[in-house]
Amino acid sequence: MKLADLPLKVKVKIPTGREYEQPTGLFINNEFVYPKQKKTFDVISPTNEESITSVYEALEEDVDIAVEAANAAYPRWSTSPPAVRAKVLYKLADLIDENADLLAEIETFDNGKSLMNSKGDVALTAAYFRSCAGWCDKILGNLINTGATHLNYTQRVPLVCGQIIPWNFPILMLSWKLGPVLASGSTTVLKSAESTPLSALYVGKLLVEAGMPKGVVNIISGFGNPAGAAIASHPKLEKVAFTGSTAVGRKIMKAAAESNLKKVTLELGGKSPNIVFNDADIDRTIQNLVMAIFYNSGEVCCAGSRVLIQSGVYDEVLAKFKKAAESIKVGNPFDPETFMGAQASEIQLSKILNYIESGKGQGAKILTGGQRCQGKGFFLQPTIFTDVKDDMKIVKEEIFGPVVSIIKFDTVEEAIALANNTEYGLAAGIHTSNINQAIHVSNKINAGTVWINTYNDFNPMVPFGGFHSSGIGREMGEEVFHEYTQCKAVRIKLSLPGTKL
Ligand code: ADP
Repeated sequence: MKLADLPLKVKVKIPTGREYEQPTGLFINNEFVYPKQKKTFDVISPTNEESITSVYEALEEDVDIAVEAANAAYPRWSTSPPAVRAKVLYKLADLIDENADLLAEIETFDNGKSLMNSKGDVALTAAYFRSCAGWCDKILGNLINTGATHLNYTQRVPLVCGQIIPWNFPILMLSWKLGPVLASGSTTVLKSAESTPLSALYVGKLLVEAGMPKGVVNIISGFGNPAGAAIASHPKLEKVAFTGSTAVGRKIMKAAAESNLKKVTLELGGKSPNIVFNDADIDRTIQNLVMAIFYNSGEVCCAGSRVLIQSGVYDEVLAKFKKAAESIKVGNPFDPETFMGAQASEIQLSKILNYIESGKGQGAKILTGGQRCQGKGFFLQPTIFTDVKDDMKIVKEEIFGPVVSIIKFDTVEEAIALANNTEYGLAAGIHTSNINQAIHVSNKINAGTVWINTYNDFNPMVPFGGFHSSGIGREMGEEVFHEYTQCKAVRIKLSLPGTKL
């Protein structure tokens, strides 16, 4: 397609037979607009490796325009009554629900994940917007008593933000970013990931229908470089929120430091331990192990990618986990029975395959899987490694795919030491029927989230984020509103009748 020929809306036919109008422009000031240079890029379906459509690409000068819009919208939005913001969020949640089937299909077409997973993501997206609607009038300051001579109070001041999201949960990660922006009275420029821009643009259309004033949320498609980097270093943004790899997180923090010291929140990688004790309910645990590493084809930052099994149940758990992995339906993501769709991109698939080769090369054994599936699309078998050593690359590094390492342990102390032997600290799973053991181990584990007898189990009220190299700051729950506001302290000296000063 010639550069300038791409319309701002195109008809897209999803393999389910559904046709819809996909916006392609940059969403700035509540309109889909052309970028200055009218550059476009292709959006590839991971399922059939063909182009779905092209979309317009934001360059640095377009980021500037979007940042201007977010700054211009700030004075009114940041001082709007909470009920006004709640109304937009409630309406947006309703619109997500009304368009749930379409949004799930867009997500599956664009990302390759199973429709089953996409439907879950869209439901969580609506739930999170609704939860944020309820927070609008609960983002409060404090009255601080320092004696009769002064009145002191704090205010939570919203921020002009930049936000960069990844490709593994495009719409859900968008909701984790936009929910607190809209609730707190902040404004934003959000960049979607270059491999999955479609659902974010569609949400732009829904934001207008929800009654959001122009410029509050601006959504751009574009690459890490230049658009993402321009956001991270922009002098007129007061905060950058990023979800993605630890390597890019470091760059974002550096760019923020070297530009205007904007506030930074990072939700990064992980190598999360998932611990099975002898007294665990084994059948329930197997389901949790599957959810932990094979849900969303393993493209989950908090995936339970290191399974630690106590020696008393090692053989049983391993045999049942292998059987469960082999019974997972991998393939056409639009088939309602499919649990694992395609990996999101060719680059990602080849990264995972390289890790599998590295595991084999370093002497680990494949219990099941390890191969790309035959035919078109970026499909991979669920893969379990045994005979791993703690210093192998597959045990140390985040693979971001359906590949898990199994490690045997004997004592509780050994499990804790193994679990904490990582630079990351995003999540951990503990499977035991002994509540005292569960709490003891949970207390000792260095991770932002600990799941006990469950895994990948999210709720809008429960904060999420990492220790150590897994990030800075928290999303969801009450915590997130500290990340999207800054504290202003006001101290007033009083001249009261009867006081001396
Ligand atoms: P992956 O490498 O697996 O694609 P990334 O962490 O690179 O994961 O991608 C997550 C998001 O970060 C995407 O939106 C991507 O465009 C963006 N990104 C990548 N590099 C940079 C960068 N240098 N600065 C800002 N954003 C970036």
